[in-house]
Order: sequence, then C-alpha cells, then structure tokens
Amino acid sequence: MIHYSLVCDKSHKFDGWFANAAAYDAQKQRGLVTCPICLTTAVDKAIMAPSVARTDGEKVSLSIGHPQHQQLREAMAALRNKVTSEADYVGDKFAEEARKIHFKEVDQRGIYGEATKEEVAALIEDGVDFMPLPSVKEEHN
Ligand SMILES: [Zn+2]
Repeated sequence: MIHYSLVCDKSHKFDGWFANAAAYDAQKQRGLVTCPICLTTAVDKAIMAPSVARTDGEKVSLSIGHPQHQQLREAMAALRNKVTSEADYVGDKFAEEARKIHFKEVDQRGIYGEATKEEVAALIEDGVDFMPLPSVKEEHN
C-alpha cells in the first residue's frame, strides 16, 4: 500500500491509499480519484511545500455505512441532471465560455462542460465562480 496526501482544485486536502503508484495513476486516469468533500476529479498529489505542510493535520469529514448515502447519491444525480438539462453543454470550451460569462462579455447563462486541471487553476486565479458538477458513478455502469 502507498499513501498519498491529495488535494483538489478547491484546496480540500484528503488522504488516499493505493496498491502502488501505478494503481494511483490508473485510477486517476479513469476519474476514480475524487475529492470526498466536493466530489471533483480534479485532484492531485499535494505538494509538500512548507506552507502546505503546515495544514497537513487538517482533517476532512467522512462517513460510511449510513442508510442515507444512497439518498445522497440520488440527490446528487438529480442535481446533476437538473444542471445538465437546463444549462448549455459547451464541451471542452468550458474555460473559455466561463471566462466570457464571468467578465460579462456575453449574456449570463448556465453552462457546463469539461476543463483541464490547468484551465481550472487559471479560472480560480481569475476569480471565476464555478462549481464542480457531482460525478455520478452509476452513469458509467
Ligand atoms: Zn474538493
């Protein structure tokens, strides 16, 4: 087993255990490594810089085995369906379109799509207020 300190694009820190480094890479590639707080798959190994290390003791809230987990999953799926049915899908142009909306270059509207880790980091830097869409595992079945 190998232990990684992980961090998502919203700076949530959490711990991940993997069979080995290759298992981490494979799971991350398939979008199976998600932040337990905001459910984004935009996670990465935390950089052990002194400023980051200082907050390493920070704990995240987790739960397992509660009968309402299924309800929570269904609620997230419903929420995702609502967003995806009412917002415009912009594919991998998300960062570009989000920036236009944020800077009011176009009419305000709801969009959803995909962005790379680099694009997400740039959006955060620009102060664009966007949210991760909950990933719904059932969809991949
Ligand atoms: Zn997160």
